[in-house]
Amino acid sequence: MSIETPTLPIEQETNPWMAQAARFDIAARKLNLDEGLWKVLRYPNREITVHIPVQLDNGKLEIFTGYRVQHSIARGPAKGGIRYSPDVTLDEVRALASWMTWKCAVVNIPFGGAKGGVICDPKKMSRSELERMTRRYTAELFEFIGPEKDVPAPDMNTNEQTMAWIMDTYSMHMRQTVTAVVTGKPENMGGSKGRREATGRGVWVVTDEALKRFNLQRESTRVIVQGFGNVGSNAARLMHSAGYKIIGIDEYDGGLYNKNGIDINALVEHRAKTGSVTGFKGAEAVGAHELLIADCDVLIPAATENVITTRNADKIKARILIEGANGPTTAVADDILADKNIFVVPDILANAGGVTTSYFEWVQDRQGYFWQESVVNQQLDHIMRSSFDAVVSYAQQHSVNNRIAAYMVAIDRVQAVIRQRGIYA
Ligand code: GLU
Repeated sequence: MSIETPTLPIEQETNPWMAQAARFDIAARKLNLDEGLWKVLRYPNREITVHIPVQLDNGKLEIFTGYRVQHSIARGPAKGGIRYSPDVTLDEVRALASWMTWKCAVVNIPFGGAKGGVICDPKKMSRSELERMTRRYTAELFEFIGPEKDVPAPDMNTNEQTMAWIMDTYSMHMRQTVTAVVTGKPENMGGSKGRREATGRGVWVVTDEALKRFNLQRESTRVIVQGFGNVGSNAARLMHSAGYKIIGIDEYDGGLYNKNGIDINALVEHRAKTGSVTGFKGAEAVGAHELLIADCDVLIPAATENVITTRNADKIKARILIEGANGPTTAVADDILADKNIFVVPDILANAGGVTTSYFEWVQDRQGYFWQESVVNQQLDHIMRSSFDAVVSYAQQHSVNNRIAAYMVAIDRVQAVIRQRGIYA
């Protein structure tokens, strides 16, 4: 198949909902999915929009728009993060909610999929403004969330503190402490050990598995990580300690390159001190996003959507692409990567370590019994490795790429449950 010049306008190519739906349609067709179920699974179950009044520190009242989309509750409570960003759109939240359904099904944990987002610029808000916004958003969603209904977690620009506020607000309304309403909480209020680094750990585990397919050794594997947030920094740190050579870190405000490998622990320290990766002495400074097309063995986009598009996919030199972010590759770019024979570990598998450990947290909260970190990591390791094997062998058996295989495995699991449960009329 030849690589055609892109015909789709970039706005359409980078619409995450269209990217999700395009892969869903391919996988559903290959599965011969019943037409009715196709429609059921293509669209979210429920979409909630709230307008959140927040008193700013200067006394003015501001209204923020927030969403919570519950794509599916067929396999269990809806599950998924909440992001705060000026770029949040309903289509993005819809896509992310669907990806959560597929992600939970790929790793076979008993959850459906959901996502939340609030259109705001957290960098310009004070801590108390963020707290008031979070609490009011939670109150607006009160009847829709809960340990058996929908369980939020951190995502872009939200963290353990955000989860603590949500947990507290929900608990105040319930008149009792309900730890299992969110995951990714601080450890002293029902959070799980290992949750903070879990997505990065999962990324590392699937990279290890991918390496085996290529007979590569960690020490000789050159890795570039795009994004140094929770996912990218933890993946880089863990992989660096495991012996990988992290030759590049790409951030929105600049990149770092060192062909002999970057000392990631020193970089983490530098970032903690200065607030940015730029200015780090142990590597050469390069322009933001230059490293996406630099020579390496493994490329890990771990920031946000749409970094690999028809505009740059043909220039990628990595042999292995591990999607730490949700939706980093557009659907149209998939074909280019396939033509280049790049081994893709798709987002719904590669970054599933976070929600898997969220599942462990939810289980621990409900049992009131907390596991040692080694147990959490061992269980995570096991689920990530076996899910990787399941997807990659499915891809080989059915002659599809890893991404379509992951969607097919997931869709099949969800549709089987819907068929058995039947449609309530
Ligand atoms: N926000 C993370 C994700 O996109 C984690 C979701 C969760 O733990 O529920 O997978």
